[in-house]
Amino acid sequence: MLKVDKITKYYGDFKAVDNLSFTVKPGEIFGLLGVNGAGKTTTFRMIMGLLEPSSGKITLNGNKIDYSVTDQIGFLTEERSLLTKLTVKEQCLFYGTLKGMSDKDILSKLDNLLDRFGIMEYKDKKIKELSKGNQQKIQFITAIINDPKLLILDEPFSGLDPINIELFKQVILEMASKGSMIIFSSHQMNHVELFCKKIVVLLRGKPVIDGYISDIKEQYRKKNILIKGDVDKKFLEKIDGVYEVVEKSDEFEVKIESNDIVSNVFKEISKKSNITKFVVEEPSLNEIFVAKVGESYEK
Ligand code: ATP
Repeated sequence: MLKVDKITKYYGDFKAVDNLSFTVKPGEIFGLLGVNGAGKTTTFRMIMGLLEPSSGKITLNGNKIDYSVTDQIGFLTEERSLLTKLTVKEQCLFYGTLKGMSDKDILSKLDNLLDRFGIMEYKDKKIKELSKGNQQKIQFITAIINDPKLLILDEPFSGLDPINIELFKQVILEMASKGSMIIFSSHQMNHVELFCKKIVVLLRGKPVIDGYISDIKEQYRKKNILIKGDVDKKFLEKIDGVYEVVEKSDEFEVKIESNDIVSNVFKEISKKSNITKFVVEEPSLNEIFVAKVGESYEK
């Protein structure tokens, strides 16, 4: 288990990370969220042992993370750090060797992953000749070539198209199902909601939301009902327990205080004819963020 225990990091007088704690167990995918400058990369650097926390402790299976466990860790950094003059094969041999793998294992894993990502033809091409998206695939392949027990992915989806995001997602899910601990950062909440069960949202270094997404949504209690049909905004606003009605292009989003209100809204709505949609939805993480910190996450 990875345990991040009350870590704080100062750069001079500036507090970049403020009393952050979380754990990631084998098989879990953990999302570290925050807008630019929130402290995500600083946190990753501390986990990797590249930066010392000003206070607090980070352990992997009870031990401090240092060079003795690098072969169990994979790290995709935010700034792309490929050796661009090398070929894809040379790059992977270089990193795989650093992780203590034999050439034979590296090359067989590489073939497998290049095939998976549909880029086998680039194996002997220089990295600098590849497109940005393909360079990112190579960087991802390098990070997972050793089947790391702990995989850290700093903004893995930035610059990827939806098809490639899906491809990355499949590989990440597969690694989790085989027992890897996976942490990834993103400034986009929708990416995290796609496949993380557990998250921390940082705001200027401070955790403002944390825990299992299901618990976070459960505790928030509020729900949204999407309604389409023969109703107007004023009618919906008058129903007991409704605190806001948002008019969307062809439907209303009716915000209610708790699940208990659903039947009442349904009863009132049933008095109207021609209702073509009535769907109860969980609030988005963004909505919860706005409610908790009083400002929008995605400005
Ligand atoms: P982004 O999404 O933009 O990558 P981030 O969440 O990864 O942001 P960090 O890079 O961890 O954020 O930075 C957190 C804060 O610490 C920022 O305000 C940044 O300016 C500051 N910071 C980062 N590195 C240093 C440094 N070496 N010296 C001083 N301040 C720093």
